[in-house]
Amino acid sequence: MNGSWKIGKIAGIDLKIHFTFFFIVLWVGFSALISGGTLATMLQSILIILALFFCVVLHELGHALSAKIFGIDTRDITLLPIGGVARLEKMPEDPKEELLVAAAGPAVNIVIAIILSIGLLLTGFFALPFNITAVTSNFWLQLLVANVILVLFNLIPAFPMDGGRVFRAILASGMDYVKATRIAANVGRGLAVLMGIAGFFLNPWLVLTAIFIWSGAGAEAQQVKIKADLQGLVARDALVSQFHQVEGNLPLSSVFQLSMQTGQYNIPVLSNGHFLGIIRRSDLLKAIDRLGNRAPAYAAIGLEPKGIHPETPLTEVLPKFATQRVLPVIKDRQLIGLLTPESVQQRIWINKRLRGSSINPAREEPDVV
Ligand SMILES: [Zn+2]
Repeated sequence: MNGSWKIGKIAGIDLKIHFTFFFIVLWVGFSALISGGTLATMLQSILIILALFFCVVLHELGHALSAKIFGIDTRDITLLPIGGVARLEKMPEDPKEELLVAAAGPAVNIVIAIILSIGLLLTGFFALPFNITAVTSNFWLQLLVANVILVLFNLIPAFPMDGGRVFRAILASGMDYVKATRIAANVGRGLAVLMGIAGFFLNPWLVLTAIFIWSGAGAEAQQVKIKADLQGLVARDALVSQFHQVEGNLPLSSVFQLSMQTGQYNIPVLSNGHFLGIIRRSDLLKAIDRLGNRAPAYAAIGLEPKGIHPETPLTEVLPKFATQRVLPVIKDRQLIGLLTPESVQQRIWINKRLRGSSINPAREEPDVV
């Protein structure tokens, strides 16, 4: 995530912290001060927040390590002001596995809360006569309450909360995954509306949370729908096979001319029939500026991603578009086509139109680069 720094590594997973996280620490300290607190109470508030986020890291590790059992790696864990995010390579397909991975996070906080309760019980805290200052200023009790709130918050059955995933996994054990997601997303949206209305009268934080849940529900439903649309399709099904390509020693001026005349923004470069890389329009202009018109085409090739095999499932290809708008499809070192988000979209569109008809839609080539 942009604006995050790596601060360490736990169990082989990068731990990152987003810069906005520091605002919450400042804000907590500041609000403790202006509400008439001393330096000591301010420090305690900051300490609680840091301890709570340590619990959040353990919560995310709960997700990451349980996913590991099912062979799924975690790219990183990032701390944000709203909590933590563990970026798993993917979610388990099996609803039972997803349920366990989703529930493992809150389970960690339940264990922490139990340990803190036992600690407070053994030190005789609960046996003391009730004293409001003693109760509200006890560090361990505050941490216990914070963990309980974290569990309750995460059990709300709405995306992107863990409860939303648990709810979807339960639904998906009895019905189609896409339908289960749609129902879970709609329940999440309904809850978001109620929460937003309640927040309007009670607390502005509830309104913010409602917006967060509303957009999370929509994003999850959308993602699952796209995945379902791509089911069974591979790179070969969506590639553009008609395009112009150039030899590596062609001058950049000629490449530019070709790009202008044909309207093709991404031009593959070959050397003796072997694929070298792709010149993107922006790289082409920069290379002409830097090296001049007569420099060879290969000098303008940008950082090239690894080629995609024609049989790669499109669900695996999709995340790669986040960093590259055009991907070469390579077989036996030969370029056989280009994949773009538009060509994939077109394939989905054609498939929907042809579904149920007798024409086999699997091998028609869209023609836009
Ligand atoms: Zn979680």
